[in-house]
Amino acid sequence: MSSDQPRGEIPESTDVLVVGAGPGGSAAAAYAASAGRHVVLADAAVFPRDKTCGDGLTPRAVAELDGLGLGHLLDGRPRLDGLDLNGWGRSVYVPWPSGRFPAYGSAVARLELDDAIRRLAVERGAQMLGGVKAVDVEMDGAAIGSVLLDDGHGVRPIRVGQVIVADGVRSGLGKVLGRKWHRDTAYGVAARAYVPSARADARVMGSHLELRGPDGELLPGYGWVFPLGTVDSGPLAGLDRAAGDGLLNVGVGALATSKRPAHMALRPILEHYARMVADEWQISGPPVRIASALLPMGGAVSNVAGCNWMLIGDAAACVNPLNGEGIDYALETARLAVERLGADDHTDAWPGLLAGHYGLAFSAARRLAGLLTMPQTVPALGRPGIRSARLMSVVVRVMGNLITADDADLVARAWRSAGRVSTRVDHRPPFA
Ligand SMILES: Cc1cc2nc3c(=O)[nH]c(=O)nc-3n(C[C@H](O)[C@H](O)[C@H](O)COP(=O)(O)OP(=O)(O)OC[C@H]3O[C@@H](n4cnc5c(N)ncnc54)[C@H](O)[C@@H]3O)c2cc1C
Repeated sequence: MSSDQPRGEIPESTDVLVVGAGPGGSAAAAYAASAGRHVVLADAAVFPRDKTCGDGLTPRAVAELDGLGLGHLLDGRPRLDGLDLNGWGRSVYVPWPSGRFPAYGSAVARLELDDAIRRLAVERGAQMLGGVKAVDVEMDGAAIGSVLLDDGHGVRPIRVGQVIVADGVRSGLGKVLGRKWHRDTAYGVAARAYVPSARADARVMGSHLELRGPDGELLPGYGWVFPLGTVDSGPLAGLDRAAGDGLLNVGVGALATSKRPAHMALRPILEHYARMVADEWQISGPPVRIASALLPMGGAVSNVAGCNWMLIGDAAACVNPLNGEGIDYALETARLAVERLGADDHTDAWPGLLAGHYGLAFSAARRLAGLLTMPQTVPALGRPGIRSARLMSVVVRVMGNLITADDADLVARAWRSAGRVSTRVDHRPPFA
């Protein structure tokens, strides 16, 4: 265990307790410590720890890392200028749009990225407790008075002023506080692996909108290939590969709802997909470190805040339903939550703020994602869509949620109108 993550040194009290040191929690701890608050950052894991992910950073995430002061982390990493979209015998290159966000993305293995953000929080003054799990709360009236922390030797309370809950997709502490995840709205299931490749320095993200299983059947999902570069330092540097080869993150994802669950064995599909893209991506070895996980999406959770606590990131289902990205939303919601720390009672204000930022886009996106869980929808939209590079650049902008409130062009106005209509007919709008 590294010296900045001691167990057994749980202080009696703290101004801000952040539970979970993924991108959301660590960014929140860094922002709050920079603002002069006493911050304790507790994670059940000891870092560096892995997180099942595609490791892809969209332009939104690049912008947010920059704002956090970690832009330099991307120096010497792949600069991904666009996407190669594939399907139905076609391939279209679409550059990331230019506008308020940088016109490029990147990819950093989560083993490295999360530890770098966590270390930043510690440098800025947060006290890190690694291997310490938040298991329960003691209420003081309507507010959390103490959080019970289990350090492996016993359970001890820590008195808290405010709590930021960033404990990820299953959000155990969120559940204790009343968080409910609604799986009748679209959610994701996805698997990733690492493969060696001579093309790991490509400047493009690969994406297959037509995903087929080992028997050729069309699946309601997508595949990705994200180049990580040469990766000659850090925890993944030791993965077996030929001299000169770098690493790719290869993965497959599917959308599901409780009505149409994705009954797929992801591992064989992922292995099949890796074989399918092997020539194009010069893959020189089998997929390793295969892992799968769920993705909560589109703000499909209720009870995201109380008097002195807020859920952020995956705990608040802040994942884009159309592309499964959540790192950027974890970083953004961290910043927004810390900006609110001085305010009274977050119970209504926090879901209201999240709905104001993401409600329209998430509502329309998860409605579309729900449609995409029907296998016949994917070819009906994908086959004609992929024939037009112009249409695909609109799709990339919409799917990446790269439309801002200031954008006044036709696509932006149409997408916002779709969001307004969708929110009006939602039986349970995002974050409600
Ligand atoms: C297969 C897959 C591929 C994906 N690909 C991408 C991608 O390419 N790009 C992208 O932007 N997003 C992607 N995502 C989504 C992304 O991984 C998440 O949105 C992101 O990790 C959310 O960050 P977070 O900080 O909210 O939570 P997490 O990163 O999950 O961190 C939560 C932390 O909380 C800790 N914790 C949990 N419970 C407790 C507790 N009780 N006490 C203390 N600590 C606790 C955990 O140990 C963990 O460290 C993908 C997801 C999956 C499953």
